[in-house]
Amino acid sequence: MSAPSHPPIVRTRFAPSPSGHLHVGGARTALFCWAFAHQNHGRFILRIEDTDQKRSSDAASVGFLRDLKWLGINWDEGPEFEDCGGGDYGPYFQSQRLETYTKYLDQLVAEGKAYYAFDTAAELDAKRAEARKENQNYRYDRAGLMLPPEDVESRLKAGEPAVIRFKLPEQPIVIRDEILGEATIAPGQLDDFVIRKADGYPTYHFAVVVDDELMQVTHVLRAQEHFMNTARHMVLQDALGFRRPVYAHLPLIFNPDGSKMSKRDKDKALRAAVREKGIDDLSAEFRTTAGIDEWLRDKDRQLEFDSALMLADDLNVSLPEINVDDFRRSGYLPEVLCNYLALLGWNPGGDVEKFDRDFLIEKFSFERVLKSPAKFDRAKLLSFNHDAIQALSTEQFVDLFRAHCNEFHTEFLEKLPPEHFDLLAAANHKRSKTLDDQVRSSRFFIEPDDAIEYDPTDKSARRAMLGGESPGRAHLESLLPILEEQEDWDVVSLERTIGAYVQQHAGGNLGKVAQPLRVAVTGTTISPAIYETLTILGKVSTVNRIRRCLDAFAMA
Ligand code: GLU
Repeated sequence: MSAPSHPPIVRTRFAPSPSGHLHVGGARTALFCWAFAHQNHGRFILRIEDTDQKRSSDAASVGFLRDLKWLGINWDEGPEFEDCGGGDYGPYFQSQRLETYTKYLDQLVAEGKAYYAFDTAAELDAKRAEARKENQNYRYDRAGLMLPPEDVESRLKAGEPAVIRFKLPEQPIVIRDEILGEATIAPGQLDDFVIRKADGYPTYHFAVVVDDELMQVTHVLRAQEHFMNTARHMVLQDALGFRRPVYAHLPLIFNPDGSKMSKRDKDKALRAAVREKGIDDLSAEFRTTAGIDEWLRDKDRQLEFDSALMLADDLNVSLPEINVDDFRRSGYLPEVLCNYLALLGWNPGGDVEKFDRDFLIEKFSFERVLKSPAKFDRAKLLSFNHDAIQALSTEQFVDLFRAHCNEFHTEFLEKLPPEHFDLLAAANHKRSKTLDDQVRSSRFFIEPDDAIEYDPTDKSARRAMLGGESPGRAHLESLLPILEEQEDWDVVSLERTIGAYVQQHAGGNLGKVAQPLRVAVTGTTISPAIYETLTILGKVSTVNRIRRCLDAFAMA
């Protein structure tokens, strides 16, 4: 009997388990599923695989939806969110489909293709240990299958916890993959896997097979780590009389050093920074946090997201971005991230590296997907982002920077009047590689004057203030009364006043005056253009800071 065939329309799905934020690997899978569906005028489905009660959370599901929308990966069917979702094959949350799974589970048990098993975790552990001792691969011994039916019935009636296992046929399984080619899995490589857990929920394997059939999925694109799972899914499809989708397994994504890109990388970076700085230098809040010592020692421990962010701030380190949300927070543009994600394990051929979504839809093909792992090259992504930011008009940059601050740094919008905020954004444009990378260095604009620290031992500050024949400090001293008298405080007026001073007293060399001014207002020698900087900062703070700076360097 030949298996029923699929309707001609291409239907792909992205099926995340909402156990946290959307990882770049997941985003790449979603992007390819989306592009392939569009290329074929098909449908892209989003299904939330939330049957793992322990790991799923509603907040995480919403995070996934928001991250996908931000990337512009809109789903035609799935959870309803903004203008996406809906569809005739729902519900699209697996936790709402339990009755459907039960129906098919019962069917397999009734047909003798699956069976109840009562082994406890301790019993299974003992059998695994035994196999290890004898240097054998552990395979479930089918203890459940040997039980007489009346026994099974009475134990179930008595409420004894039981799983359902699939009775694996003893034939080799041939996987045909659009990217990896053909592979044969010998029966001994798998065993009677669990398809329903003791809590009554189906396992991932079972739910995915039922849903792919009922949602009429024609093409399954997912990461290579699921390759062996495909063998399990195929035997289940055969047992249930389901159609077989086309499979395409995408290469894994590694860090440039060959390690797997994982959320643990953030903790790794933080631990290294703590060790370098010394735990005594951390804020009291962290030193006394329960479990911080264990976290330092145990490389598998992870800090809560908010604690990690706070610690990073405390240590002044940037966390490696792993999730889509991290890249958003770091000020990457969604279209740039999409472009870069598309290059992880695929390329359009030739020298073309920069392209938009329409190009990806047109050119995507399984033939050009690589088998070997892709490397995530942050420097390259950053350079793509830099180019894209520089290609924006200043107005566009200002709008994007405002939206970015609105989400992540509201203090700038609260503390600066709108015209000064816009001036700051515009002044930062040419210095920016991301929407975020001038944020830290712009803090001096909104800090209280007495928070600016002067370090007379700092080499460049010292040179700007005390070096040369006409030291910066002397210029500041002469400028102070002039600025105190200055009435109009805007870019043009300041340029006129300071420019005239520079002509008269600094031989026309603006740097001679601008650098000590920078030291005064920022504590460092780095700031945006000086007239803009002073305008945004305002007269009172400028004057205050010049006074404090003169004091600090007088004592040096
Ligand atoms: N929920 C699975 C995961 O997040 C989906 C795998 C699949 O696409 O079948 O890995």
